Amino acid sequence: SVLIEAKNVSKRYRNGLAGEWQQILTNVSMMVHDGETVGICGPSGCGKSTLSRILAGLEEPDKGEIWFRTILLSSVDNKIRKEMRRKIQILFQDPGSSFNPVRKLNVSMNRLINLPGVTLPRQGFSEILHKVGLHEEILSRYPHEISGGQAQRLALARILLTKPELIILDEPTSGLDISVQAQILRLLKEVKKREKMSYIIISHDSDVLSFMSDRIYSMENGALS
Ligand code: ADP
Ligand code: ADP
Repeated sequence: SVLIEAKNVSKRYRNGLAGEWQQILTNVSMMVHDGETVGICGPSGCGKSTLSRILAGLEEPDKGEIWFRTILLSSVDNKIRKEMRRKIQILFQDPGSSFNPVRKLNVSMNRLINLPGVTLPRQGFSEILHKVGLHEEILSRYPHEISGGQAQRLALARILLTKPELIILDEPTSGLDISVQAQILRLLKEVKKREKMSYIIISHDSDVLSFMSDRIYSMENGALS
């Protein structure tokens, strides 16, 4: 059945306070079924990240609707909205930059483990680390002491903590060396097979998309086809 659906979503931004309005998304409709990996391709600047922020509930569309199963995202109260934010997570291109640079990684991660609503015991987190191919030892390092591939694995572990139903992979391997890219893509496939999840993967790389996706939308000038 349908997990998430965008119906005629439009969005514009203003360049500066008094600038011109720029139409970013125009009547975008798309859907993702349970267990599916849906690709979105398109050139840089065409609106892919904007769409992913709207799908994840981080931004409101100007027009149109986002449905998550039977829930209309724009109509929910704050409590449900928070819950939805845990169910739909974004894995960004450069996760390393989201860790506090002056703290060891275990401080950043402990804070997350103690998040309200996340009831996972420490032991459970070790298990998740192993699932993404990391060892607890990595948590004793500073963010600048880990590689790009390790940062991406750790970001995935952090996301898996909240047991998401949908992960939006926004250029998940663009900053990585070719050999590391392939490892991360294989890991993402493996993880999806084990957990019950769906993916949206955004990439400008058609090889990455065809390797990962069950179905691909292409975006041009803020419209999907
Ligand atoms: P893509 O992910 O396809 O590269 P984006 O969704 O990041 O595209 O950006 C689409 C367009 O929207 C770009 O022209 C970008 O400059 C503009 N844009 C994105 N976010 C904002 C914002 N918060 N305010 C104004 N313009 C924005
Ligand atoms: P991966 O395949 O996990 O992405 P890399 O080949 O990029 O790893 O890096 C190899 C090793 O070098 C890793 O074990 C990582 O810990 C270490 N490393 C990478 N970048 C840094 C850094 N800036 N400081 C210290 N160690 C690093």
